[in-house]
Amino acid sequence: MPDRGMPSGALRLLFLSIEEVMGKDGIKAVLNGAKLSHYINNYPENSLEYGVTFGEYGKVEQAVEDFLGPRGARAILIRVGRELFRYSLREQSALLGIAGNALKNMPLISTQAKMKILLQQIVGAANKTVNQPARLEENDEAFLVVIDKCMCQWRPKHDKPCCLVTVGTFSEAMKWLTDKPIEVKEITCLNNGADACRYQIPKRLPEEA
Ligand SMILES: [Zn+2]
Repeated sequence: MPDRGMPSGALRLLFLSIEEVMGKDGIKAVLNGAKLSHYINNYPENSLEYGVTFGEYGKVEQAVEDFLGPRGARAILIRVGRELFRYSLREQSALLGIAGNALKNMPLISTQAKMKILLQQIVGAANKTVNQPARLEENDEAFLVVIDKCMCQWRPKHDKPCCLVTVGTFSEAMKWLTDKPIEVKEITCLNNGADACRYQIPKRLPEEA
């Protein structure tokens, strides 16, 4: 499959998030494992130009999994995704069109309505900025983020959904917004032959303890 361009800044953000979770030596080992050692101490620039590819991004996710083993990598990749959301919110919310605290503190609208707005903003950023076609659907119980092109298409086949960084990103977005742990699941994955990667985000918040 021909590779697909993405902004240099998106791959840079993945590297920074991995570095935050796994340390400097961790990201070095991952980049070596991905055969992308030219990026060691030389991250892609913080730019929206399409200077890198989906294939490279997928290779790096795969290298984390290969380095830690699929079981060990699971929690780490989710943490990387959480870090990625926090970093985006802190550094790039204006750029990505994410309202941040203005949305979180907005009076008079329900938490569920705020969840929808934030998910729409993230989907908008994926479409406009990341070159990743995405849309938001919903049913009575859940929001569904549907992604039609994903880095996982350039990774070796898995028998389960494997886009854990994205699971982490949506988990952290919902946690940050609602102050509750919301269980995000990837229910279908392009990597396993599905027509799209689909993330299910329950509308009902977990009951307070
Ligand atoms: Zn996927």
